[in-house]
Amino acid sequence: MNRHHSLQQITETDIWDIIIIGGGATGLGSAVDAASRGYKTLLIEQYDFAKGTSSRSTKLVHGGVRYLQQGNIKLVKEALRERAFLLHNAPHLTSVQPFVVPVFSWFEKMYYAVGLKMYDLLSGKLSLGKTKILSKKETIACLPAINPAKLSGGILYYDGQFDDSRLCADLATTATKHGATILNYCKASGFTKDKSKIPKINGVLITDTLSGTEYTVNAKAVINATGVFTDAVMQMDDAAKHDIVSPSQGIHLVVNHSFFPGSTAMMIPKTDDGRVLFAVPWHDHIVLGTTDTPVERTEVEPKPLEEEIEFILTHINRYGTSRIERKDVKSVYVGLRPLVKISGSKSTALLSRDHTLVVAPSGLVTVTGGKWTTYRKMAEDAVENAVFISKQEKRECITKTLQIGDISQRERIIHEMIISDPSLAQAICNGYSYTKADIIYAVRSEMAVTVEDILARRTRLLFLDAAAAIKVAEEVASLMAGELDKDSAWKKEQVTGFTKLAQQYLLS
Ligand SMILES: Cc1cc2nc3c(=O)[nH]c(=O)nc-3n(C[C@H](O)[C@H](O)[C@H](O)COP(=O)(O)OP(=O)(O)OC[C@H]3O[C@@H](n4cnc5c(N)ncnc54)[C@H](O)[C@@H]3O)c2cc1C
Repeated sequence: MNRHHSLQQITETDIWDIIIIGGGATGLGSAVDAASRGYKTLLIEQYDFAKGTSSRSTKLVHGGVRYLQQGNIKLVKEALRERAFLLHNAPHLTSVQPFVVPVFSWFEKMYYAVGLKMYDLLSGKLSLGKTKILSKKETIACLPAINPAKLSGGILYYDGQFDDSRLCADLATTATKHGATILNYCKASGFTKDKSKIPKINGVLITDTLSGTEYTVNAKAVINATGVFTDAVMQMDDAAKHDIVSPSQGIHLVVNHSFFPGSTAMMIPKTDDGRVLFAVPWHDHIVLGTTDTPVERTEVEPKPLEEEIEFILTHINRYGTSRIERKDVKSVYVGLRPLVKISGSKSTALLSRDHTLVVAPSGLVTVTGGKWTTYRKMAEDAVENAVFISKQEKRECITKTLQIGDISQRERIIHEMIISDPSLAQAICNGYSYTKADIIYAVRSEMAVTVEDILARRTRLLFLDAAAAIKVAEEVASLMAGELDKDSAWKKEQVTGFTKLAQQYLLS
């Protein structure tokens, strides 16, 4: 994946079969789908891949136990099927995660045992492990930090876990491998249309936000996969279009693993506002979350609300033996769910997590809603519709079994880099495994162009430990400057910009 090469491709290509706007899970999944079917595919992302919601999830590949409580069996079944595909196609970025639901009465034990047995039954052959009722002793063995007072036992069940922005990086390289052209820092700023009675989109205006260069590219079909920015892109096509997305904010607090030692996650099935709350081990830390707060504004870097922070700390501290204080939080990250509006619904917690597909009279195919786990199906549906509406030859989708990423190739290249320069094996930060070689690899092969790309999404240091990320920003900028041929002014600007952003991930 090379940005310079991709920019050259957009000037040299007469017409694209499919252009995809948005480089999150849905857009990159669509690029993999379209390219692997043999369509000439271009994807543009206005910031970096996964800069939006797709780097800010709870990191679960799940059917959604909560949707079962809401009676949405179809959604749960589809997600469980997709969970199995993802675990199979990207084993290097996913894992099976045991969860325990602590219970405090016989009635609770039976209620959640029946629900979670059903969850397991719905996955059928694709089950990740049998749901089991645990005694109090067994529950404490799984969750050593749980407060034993009043505890009656627990229910053990299994779901999947993953690294979201790393998966986006691998989807981008996979799409490229299958012939797609992929570009970050390129914004869709308008459409061109033909002169028919109902004008059809026949191209996209693109602005390279790093150089300011503008391009007009021709397309047979265009997919809008822009998450919480969906409405803005739909209105670029048709100014009279009404909003369809209702953003809902969710925050996560990341703390030391020692607060919940062991490898089992905890699921709290009912918070005061009727949601579920997780404490999940991730990269040797614990992710606590999440919240569901309707928001008016769509921001690229949404900020946590005081009440959301308090909500998570208050609920989690009801369950653990050692109290988690604000000072223990190493990073707070915030995402916006692109939920699809249902008229009359007041709470975003009740809005559907199903995905929605809209085909405009101009031919613009919009795909939104859903969740990370179902990105592949969303992509399949979007590409099917784009091909149909633009009357292109139909080709079979092959992504159910398509391998994502190539871990052995990445490891081989990094190994060769270290052989030729052993200093590249050095870790960039004490206590974390990220090496200088990982950074150089991300610049050369994963289109990382800013310090933030490296520290937030190619590695996950900003999400794990914001203070540590600030400390290493200068060294990362120096390594990148060497690779990208940048001067000291660039380095300074990068370090200042990143430090300002990272302050938002710290709790004061
Ligand atoms: C708090 C929270 C927790 C979640 N946890 C889970 C979970 O554990 N498991 C799960 O399965 N799902 C989870 N989800 C849902 C999941 O993260 C989202 O459904 C998914 O990431 C949405 O991906 P997307 O590609 O549709 O949107 P995004 O990731 O937001 O991607 C859209 C992209 O489009 C780009 N864009 C916008 N406008 C333009 C333009 N004009 N030109 C070019 N690019 C543009 C944006 O910059 C953005 O990068 C969670 C969501 C939230 C908020």
